[in-house]
Amino acid sequence: MARKRSAKEEDHARVCQEKCGARCCRYITVILPPPKTKADFDEWSWFLAHENIAIYFTGQWHMEVRNKCRYLDDQNRCTIYERRPDVCREYEVESCEFSGDTGHKLHFETKEEFDKWWEAKRRRERARRKKRTKAAQSRRKKTAERKAR
Ligand code: SF4
Ligand code: SF4
Repeated sequence: MARKRSAKEEDHARVCQEKCGARCCRYITVILPPPKTKADFDEWSWFLAHENIAIYFTGQWHMEVRNKCRYLDDQNRCTIYERRPDVCREYEVESCEFSGDTGHKLHFETKEEFDKWWEAKRRRERARRKKRTKAAQSRRKKTAERKAR
């Protein structure tokens, strides 16, 4: 027999079902290793070329795949509530994204957004490399001048 929910659980269930619309039951996330090579960035650009995919950074990179859980019913209720996975139990109304704070430092919904960010990042890295090379050349020149005196 199903366990009777506490008043707090009933309150939370109401928020999830009626106000939020069970957002966290409508996607999965996969942690991605930080992109390092051109091929990694190109692959992520390809991920984002697909529908229902987002990529975001919270201190760790994630891919969000928007796909409703098959156990969510038409009233936004979990039909396997007592047997739901631990990852679902970790979600708390007080700390979930419903509060509006996703904690995303970077967030990409489309390939275009991501490609633009990637290009700007490459430009910044090229400029930094150029500056470092110039500084090293200047140091070498000064050392050679000192030795020549
Ligand atoms: S736990 Fe949060 S994100 Fe998930 S359904 Fe409830 S209010 Fe929405
Ligand atoms: S198992 Fe239940 S709580 Fe977990 S995502 Fe599916 S519907 Fe939501």
